[in-house]
Amino acid sequence: MTPADRDQIVFHGVTKKFGENVVLDDLSFGVRAGERVTLIGPSGSGKTTILRMLMTLTEPDSGTITVDGNHLFHEVRNGTLVPAGEQHLRAVRRKITMVFQQYNLFPNMRVLRNITEAPVHVLGLSKDEAEARARELLEMVGLSDKLDAYPAHLSGGQQQRVAIARALAIRPEVLLLDEVTSALDPELAAEVLDVLRDVARTTEVTMLCVTHAMKFARDISDRVLMFNEGRIIESALPAELFDSPQQERTQRFLHSLR
Ligand code: ADP
Repeated sequence: MTPADRDQIVFHGVTKKFGENVVLDDLSFGVRAGERVTLIGPSGSGKTTILRMLMTLTEPDSGTITVDGNHLFHEVRNGTLVPAGEQHLRAVRRKITMVFQQYNLFPNMRVLRNITEAPVHVLGLSKDEAEARARELLEMVGLSDKLDAYPAHLSGGQQQRVAIARALAIRPEVLLLDEVTSALDPELAAEVLDVLRDVARTTEVTMLCVTHAMKFARDISDRVLMFNEGRIIESALPAELFDSPQQERTQRFLHSLR
């Protein structure tokens, strides 16, 4: 689990507490560029906090987090960690993007505009370039006929597929997926997971995925990390971890999902 020099994402000795609640406990791990890593474990074990830290939405209390060698947080007086400077954060936001459980589309914008917004404002693409890219992405997620629709007129699964297209529109190097199917019923969830399988097959984006969809995790992951109480208690290839988990806690967790 010790991170290696060639890793794109490195957590080193990261600790986070909310009051007395130790959410991440001296956590160290690395992720290689292009790797697909799934984070599993019981609710409250710290998985979402890791993704939020990569988006600089939550600060660690101590430790370091780097992406391509760049620190996401800097220490200020009294040892507090704060997100690194604005210029640096802009660079990070061009690289890392997150899809949330609740889609979070802009409700007042049509589908096409939801997708072109970041390429135009973050990357500085022309409107035409951004729209051409958005159309390609909508085709990929199977929603070419919905580009003029407002989010409220789409099913949850369709909204989530738009959210995935929107995330990919900046051509991110790292895609963070936080329980993206847990608000959906099984049929709609399956459509979303199929889109993500395509993303995994056709792009080289690094994926960190928090999910309870174990078959999906088995299909796309290079590695699965099992979390418990803010620590990684098991890290293995998906077939190994799902078929012969070594830790009793992992066995119990997987059993609870059946
Ligand atoms: P997981 O994704 O594994 O379910 P989380 O990272 O969401 O776990 O949460 C870990 C713990 O941190 C939980 O106990 C949660 O209640 C707590 N937590 C997360 N965010 C906050 C916050 N802003 N304030 C207080 N506690 C929080």
